[in-house]
Amino acid sequence: MNYKYSHCVYIGRFQPFHLGHLYTVEKALQLSEVVIVFLGSHQVAPNIKNPWSSEHRQSMISGCFDAATQNRIIFAYARDRLYSDNLWVSDIQKQVEMITDASDSVAIIGHQKDNSSYYLDLFPQWDYVPVDNYQGLNATAIRTRYFSGSDNWKQSSQLPPSVLNDLKTFQSDPEYQRLCEEWRFIQQYKESWSVAPYPPTHVTVDAVVVQSGHVLMVRRKASPGKGLVALPGGFIDQLETLENGMIRELREETGIKVPVPVLQGSIVGRQVFDNPDRSLRGRTITHAFFIQLKSGPLPRVKGSDDADKAWWMSLSSLEKDEPRFYEDHFHIIQHFISQI
Ligand code: NAD
Repeated sequence: MNYKYSHCVYIGRFQPFHLGHLYTVEKALQLSEVVIVFLGSHQVAPNIKNPWSSEHRQSMISGCFDAATQNRIIFAYARDRLYSDNLWVSDIQKQVEMITDASDSVAIIGHQKDNSSYYLDLFPQWDYVPVDNYQGLNATAIRTRYFSGSDNWKQSSQLPPSVLNDLKTFQSDPEYQRLCEEWRFIQQYKESWSVAPYPPTHVTVDAVVVQSGHVLMVRRKASPGKGLVALPGGFIDQLETLENGMIRELREETGIKVPVPVLQGSIVGRQVFDNPDRSLRGRTITHAFFIQLKSGPLPRVKGSDDADKAWWMSLSSLEKDEPRFYEDHFHIIQHFISQI
């Protein structure tokens, strides 16, 4: 059979893979010999927006095709680069060049769903194959029904049968209960702000404390992100400066045994992190402070307040632990420690 393209790239989160996604892969298979399915938001810690790991999503998607068709689908993975579309694009470019052996017969397929689909325009070197909206299906609406405990998420007209079965099985996984709890928390949180005259913009502070090749981390005690690894930090109080709020949160959550003037004098950088999607609670802008302490024995720390644990994580284990990081905290640390 003659195909128009050697490869067709399809990028998505597929949380979960619904019939609109299936329709698109089928269209791509008609046009190209091989379809490269990029699983986006790779290594993101499970949350109600990205509940299923890349491995899990790959298995859900493969289960929708027979063995011969599976041989024509290649899976690839793309980490988010929340603060650099260029790095994200170049990662995808590199992987596609390698998979296709730098073929010039590549297309990208997708549907311009809303503003978030802008990334389809970032690959002008490939033909763009547009896809119509398939029956108005929407993964966010499916997840909302699924995690709110509503029974009508099972509508068979929305999900391929194997995905439907997978999601039924997942309901007996303790992780499903944790995500339902997180879903309820976020709902209540948003409802509590719904009486405000304007949608709120929250301001938080975070401390990136580094000493002798280690960064100070905490484990979150409660939703959202219960159990995930986070930077010490939190919401600022009404009557404090950003820097004072950061020092207060740092000491409350870690009990770090370093005098306040030393902490203040060791601030070597600060940066605003404002990706509109960085927090599921709603628009939240954080001000992160980089505190570089003099090398030597690591000061004693102990988790308290919103953290049930505080410890010094070696910089070498950051990448291994990426899928356990809360929100964009992994990216915030990377920003400071990779500065030239
Ligand atoms: P998605 O699963 O929501 O959608 C995947 C594709 O399916 C999209 O083309 C979408 O428009 C299409 N689709 C959805 N519903 C459809 C329907 N009913 N009919 C037909 N098509 C339909 O995934 P997504 O959120 O668009 O995935 C984009 C990925 O790229 C994410 O992981 C995102 O984080 C990542 N990204 C990262 C950066 C960065 O890190 N700098 C920048 C842009 C995008």
